Amino acid sequence: MKKIFSGLIDLIFPPRRVCPLCAQSEPGSRICPACLQMVWQYRLEPVCLRCGRYFRLELEEDVRENLLLCRDCRTGQRNFFMARSAGPYEGDLKRAVQRLKFYGKRDLAGHLADIMFQSIVKNQYYMKTDIITAVPLSRERIKKRGFNQAELLAFELAGRMTVPLLPLLRKVRETSPQTGLGRSGRKENLVGSFQITRPEAVRGKTVLVVDDVITTGSTLDIVSEVLLGGGAATVICITAAAGRTSI
Ligand SMILES: [Zn+2]
Ligand SMILES: [Zn+2]
Repeated sequence: MKKIFSGLIDLIFPPRRVCPLCAQSEPGSRICPACLQMVWQYRLEPVCLRCGRYFRLELEEDVRENLLLCRDCRTGQRNFFMARSAGPYEGDLKRAVQRLKFYGKRDLAGHLADIMFQSIVKNQYYMKTDIITAVPLSRERIKKRGFNQAELLAFELAGRMTVPLLPLLRKVRETSPQTGLGRSGRKENLVGSFQITRPEAVRGKTVLVVDDVITTGSTLDIVSEVLLGGGAATVICITAAAGRTSI
């Protein structure tokens, strides 16, 4: 009865299809042409070869294009081999990540996974992935939010890559919000907050870690350190969006 009723409602008020990224009406399509164009443009933007963050736009184009590594990756050690994202954390992509994370729009995970998959599908390193895992949230955070956005993205991406998704990590203590902390502060804040739950599953494997956003890379770095400590051969990372970084 409920089904018939909602079918009737759909007849009278046809569901408005909207592009999941920009929320503009776009009948019959998933991601609208303008957003697809934007995502395509992102792929042409130069990124730090290690952390995958985009260079700040105020830099001259020829300077950006000749950079290989950002300052953080040049001066500090990174435990992950490589990180990539679908685009910079701004505009419609930022809003889409926020709608997923803070407003519980879970169906966005599939759309974001589509463009994340597109950004790595031709990358030989990512195609060697043995296991996909998500950056875990603490139990308190899960209770509050009801879901882990990174896990939703990881689940969708695992399906597209046909690679198994395994929970490998646990966040053992809540960390104070990372916002406002510098790079070293962020790292200190995180030390000892993640534990590996299944070392036997990671030994000798290439593990792909999924998160929603890379800002400084501290979280992905600590998680990678823990996975490597547990015997993983290589850790690579992917996020829906990436921050910008200086040279
Ligand atoms: Zn759109
Ligand atoms: Zn970098």
